[in-house]
Amino acid sequence: MVSTRSLELAQTLVRMNTVSSRSNLELIHFVRDELQRLGVASRITFSADRAKANLFATLGEGKPAGVILSGHTDTVPWDGQAWSSDPLAPEVRDGPEGPSLYGRGSADMKSFIALALAHAQDFLDSRAPFAVHLAFSYDEEVGCFGVRELIADLHDAGIAPLACIVGEPTGMVPAIAHKGVYRYQCCVRGREAHSSLTPQSVNAIEMAARMVCKLRDMAEGFERDEPRYAGFDVPFSTASVGQFHGGIADNVVPRDAVFRYEFRNLPTADAISMQKEVLAHADIAAAAMKKVAPEAGFTFETICEVPAFLGSADDAVTRLAQRLAGQHEHARRTTLVAFGTEAGLFKSAGIPTVVCGPGSIAQAHQPDEYVSLEQLARCEAFLRGLAASERLQ
Ligand SMILES: [Zn+2]
Repeated sequence: MVSTRSLELAQTLVRMNTVSSRSNLELIHFVRDELQRLGVASRITFSADRAKANLFATLGEGKPAGVILSGHTDTVPWDGQAWSSDPLAPEVRDGPEGPSLYGRGSADMKSFIALALAHAQDFLDSRAPFAVHLAFSYDEEVGCFGVRELIADLHDAGIAPLACIVGEPTGMVPAIAHKGVYRYQCCVRGREAHSSLTPQSVNAIEMAARMVCKLRDMAEGFERDEPRYAGFDVPFSTASVGQFHGGIADNVVPRDAVFRYEFRNLPTADAISMQKEVLAHADIAAAAMKKVAPEAGFTFETICEVPAFLGSADDAVTRLAQRLAGQHEHARRTTLVAFGTEAGLFKSAGIPTVVCGPGSIAQAHQPDEYVSLEQLARCEAFLRGLAASERLQ
């Protein structure tokens, strides 16, 4: 059974509205105060407007290095979703997986943060040869923005963690890879005209459509040619246009069009070169547009660039997570996940990383998001095991 303290803390965090568009300071200050009570100081790094913050704390100061428990404090919104209870009023009730905690962020991923915090005293008392770091970030859901500041701050402070466990919902099975998410906006500027005078105009929608076709061609190319990466639901990179807006009337050649698209690249594929291919294609199209209207062309904006993650089943942190998750030596499992996380950023910073946390991504971002109490109990056993570990593997 999950402990009362853990469950209460999870409920407390779910009650705080930390949708990515809002401040997360209530939650950060709460965690800071809880840690302060145990005599632990927190490093806080703020967003540029100081409305949001990351928290980093070390439990076991003085030990040579530590293992990060990483979680994001923000959640996705629930506008338009049909919830059977208030997303901000956590409730334990029976669900498809038995008794479960319902509420926004219960699975993704406030419960992990709550459980890590609930075991802070265990980590302080731990005789493990490594410290435990808590790393709680902002703005993960909109592009992993906060954790970049947090990692830069660690670097500046000379803190070099041994390993990182990202507690995103994987059903407590260690995940060693995920795809990247690279999302962009393209604004197309043409020249408007009466639609009877098309040769004097540049049709922004038509030029945008050519770019959309290019993206579609690229997507078909990935499907046709890319070496398969077994284990992913879609074992090749994908490209997709998610939004398209343009035009004001039937008889006006449109001056403006805008669309957004994304690449979800395999860990073995390079999303930056995919985007470069798009830019090169735009340059060619723009040259022709400018012959009619010098002001015409394309402007690209990066929405987010969340790198893919590729760990290893042989990493000490993967083996540690497998052991703590209660897997037997002869039947150790790993998985791959379809969603992006902060793992790729930790890994790029040179920190061996694994993704392992309670609940299922199938419930994340959904109405009636829940995490089963059985998953929370397993996570608790994992964290207690970490506190009792005498070695890293
Ligand atoms: Zn998440």
